[in-house]
Amino acid sequence: MMYKSPIQGWRQYQSRYCLQGVVCKSCKKPFYPQKYLCSCGSTEFDECKFKGTGTLFSFTNITSPSAELKDAPTYCIGLIKLDDGPMIMAQLADVKIEDLKIGMPLKSVFRKFYSNNDDGIVEYGLKFVPKDF
Ligand SMILES: [Zn+2]
Repeated sequence: MMYKSPIQGWRQYQSRYCLQGVVCKSCKKPFYPQKYLCSCGSTEFDECKFKGTGTLFSFTNITSPSAELKDAPTYCIGLIKLDDGPMIMAQLADVKIEDLKIGMPLKSVFRKFYSNNDDGIVEYGLKFVPKDF
């Protein structure tokens, strides 16, 4: 999930910040992140920006985060079924685990992931919040 360098972040900008994936030209199956070979055998895809809304398929609470996320001692991760097809995993924001319910509507928001005090890089990306917020 985390960038190793600003250049890597720039290369993944469309995918990470704009939910850009692909749709198979042959069978129309959507993928996020991008794939190069579809289960139907096709290798031809059209780029597709997904809407960023979906429903919560499953979730868990992280209580021992990685070093980059030390500012967030606990947080929730969700498996989200996007309204336009793909299933993605993302951090859930503005919500406690006891408020999460399978099937609840969610929307993507642009939020800070972490800041690296050593080199001054502040990492941002998409998280999901309840759609009614
Ligand atoms: Zn296909």
